[in-house]
Amino acid sequence: MNKKRILVTGGAGFVGSHLCERLVKEGQTVICLDNYFTGRKENINHLREYHNFETIRHDVTEPIRLEVDQIYNLACPASPVHYQYNAIKTVKTSVMGAINMLGLAKRVGARILQASTSEVYGDPHEHPQREEYWGHVNPIGERSCYDEGKRVAETLFFDYHRQNKVDIRVIRIFNTYGPRMMPDDGRVVSNFIVQALRGEDITIYGDGSQTRSFCYVDDLVEGMIRMMNQDSFIGPVNLGNPGEFTIKELAEKVIAATGTKSGIIYKPLPSDDPKQRRPDITKAKTHLGWEPGIALDDGLRSTIDYFRKSLGV
Ligand code: NAD
Ligand code: UDP
Repeated sequence: MNKKRILVTGGAGFVGSHLCERLVKEGQTVICLDNYFTGRKENINHLREYHNFETIRHDVTEPIRLEVDQIYNLACPASPVHYQYNAIKTVKTSVMGAINMLGLAKRVGARILQASTSEVYGDPHEHPQREEYWGHVNPIGERSCYDEGKRVAETLFFDYHRQNKVDIRVIRIFNTYGPRMMPDDGRVVSNFIVQALRGEDITIYGDGSQTRSFCYVDDLVEGMIRMMNQDSFIGPVNLGNPGEFTIKELAEKVIAATGTKSGIIYKPLPSDDPKQRRPDITKAKTHLGWEPGIALDDGLRSTIDYFRKSLGV
């Protein structure tokens, strides 16, 4: 009776494929929409045997007509290497993608959830980051295509809500990791694990004193589904693990967990790289009864297992 038709844009990507899997296994009818820029068919091939799963190759910068009850809007490259590869396209994906998906939600009366990011806080002057903080973002730097694109997307979500009564939900995702990250994705967890497993030097950018808070993907997906399926709170809400680690500590954990002989080398820090990041998750706890349950050491172990198998090392 409560089964829904659910569109997941960016469904063949890292987070999207875990979300599709969870929804399909709940028995929902899931449409995975992706242009396969950073997504992979291997991420979702195992779902094709389910009658309640289908895929559409489509670019969210173009409008599309579908009949759905819920939309999770995840389409957007998330790793700095990939979103800077074609910066203009990244802005178009965030902004035109939001307009097209909000237009679709408005037409069919669907609830729509935006996968926003901790990057809307930029290189934050407030720590930990609360949802009320407006951020410290460079509008013209190398990260701006992603940060400002996501900020405009949030603006569009709230304007469609105020002006057109679209039923929105906005989550701000903090660094998330787990199986199905691409080995050449460029993000720190996948880079360090792949380097360690291959016995290559581990590349720390800067002196490694910058911090991040790492959330295991299963915890994130649980938070996303809770946010979508409650009626009283539209967000924005931080979803992330409040455990904060320096990048040097992360490198040491990966070295210990893999037992690698890899050394550490230091490379220049990319411009505008945030110095610290940690979510205040009071709102997620209060409104969703959500907090992450998977500690970094445990999540790293299963991610390392995944990469061992997929790389054959
Ligand atoms: P990902 O790169 O693995 O997935 C993004 C997916 O979107 C890919 O499948 C890609 O092919 C697809 N895509 C990109 N441009 C598209 C377009 N124009 N049309 C259709 N599909 C398109 O990244 P991810 O880590 O799975 O991130 C998913 C979402 O979550 C993104 O919106 C990202 O900004 C957000 N997010 C992720 C993190 C994280 O740590 N993983 C943190 C903050 C926010
Ligand atoms: N980083 C690093 N070595 C790498 C990849 C990333 O030291 O091989 C650093 C990066 O400079 C940043 C942090 O790790 O300070 C997280 O980088 P990532 O690209 O994963 O995410 P984001 O910067 O978007 O949080």
